[in-house]
Amino acid sequence: MLRVTDYIKKSLEPDSQSGKSHKGRLLIWNITNDCNLSCEHCYSSSGKSEIAQKLTPELVLSTVKSLKKADVKAVILSGGEPLMSPFLFDIAVILKDNGFQVHLSTNGTMINENNIGRIKSLFNYVGISIDGTEKTHDRFRQREGAYEASLKALRLLKNKSVNVGLRTSLTAYNYKDIAFIFEMAKKEDVKKLYISHLVYSGRGSITSEIDKTVRKKISSYVIETAFNFVKDGILVDIVTGNNEPDAILLLEMFKSRCPEFYDNMREKILEWGGNQSGKRIINIDYSGFVKPDPFFNYKAGNIKDRDFFEIISEDKLFSKLREMPRKLKGRCEKCNYLEVCNGGSRARAYAVYGDYFQEDPACFM
Ligand code: SF4
Repeated sequence: MLRVTDYIKKSLEPDSQSGKSHKGRLLIWNITNDCNLSCEHCYSSSGKSEIAQKLTPELVLSTVKSLKKADVKAVILSGGEPLMSPFLFDIAVILKDNGFQVHLSTNGTMINENNIGRIKSLFNYVGISIDGTEKTHDRFRQREGAYEASLKALRLLKNKSVNVGLRTSLTAYNYKDIAFIFEMAKKEDVKKLYISHLVYSGRGSITSEIDKTVRKKISSYVIETAFNFVKDGILVDIVTGNNEPDAILLLEMFKSRCPEFYDNMREKILEWGGNQSGKRIINIDYSGFVKPDPFFNYKAGNIKDRDFFEIISEDKLFSKLREMPRKLKGRCEKCNYLEVCNGGSRARAYAVYGDYFQEDPACFM
């Protein structure tokens, strides 16, 4: 993920402490595949399930030591809908008590006065998914009233002073609502707006992809808006995900606006290192399988059978993903931008070419 606002601010004020990125690894933990919604673009194909799988607190507790050994510093609890798991709060307690930053990624519809106290006490940050206007969102989420419920949760969290942000997944069906989403982030005064690009996984099929030329314009708009927010003192941090070539656009746009600070920006972007799946980002799915990120089909091993640190250290695909620069094929192989983006999404390459080391088919550069 690319912290666009952070990098703009830090590059303009090199001594600023603003938005220091997490050191260490980030674990995305899908604790259940159960969900009260059935979204069109869900990467884990989650939905209401009689045979829903859930990770137990015992399994989480037995993995904590190994997570620390692997230098995991922050854990995002996701799903399915994590609030569908009866173990969510027990898992969050274990992680918090063991010193991890704990984040919640939710559709928000199950947040209410009864659980807001526990959410406030356990989570460092809550991300609520909203995909556009009420009409767009309810159609995507296949539930009338979902938008209202998510917005209500967002406001409840704000009122209780919980760090809360918006998450939006861009597809061909909602990208025209992007200006609406920015307005909403500003109006609701959220801490962060995370714009996620489509990775072809689960129900998030390539048929929902946006034309590359249009996507480049959208990315430019997102970065432009981040510059404007910084200039106008609007405190919404803009972050993009699953589209590391955004960093190339950020560098180009920064150079034309603030050439005197360009070297600062370039240094920070190179330090960030582009796509980090399998390196600083790791996923455990609802069955306990360890994957480089949630969009990979590949399973390196299961924490029910093997030690987490051992799995990521010994797995051959993880080792290849950690190489810098990655040994990629197609357009990525000789691309001058490789050191910036690290080749973009490997899961997208696999979805299209059946090869994790082919070029990112969605790259607009
Ligand atoms: S072609 Fe590959 S290496 Fe080049 S910018 Fe695109 S994703 Fe990055």
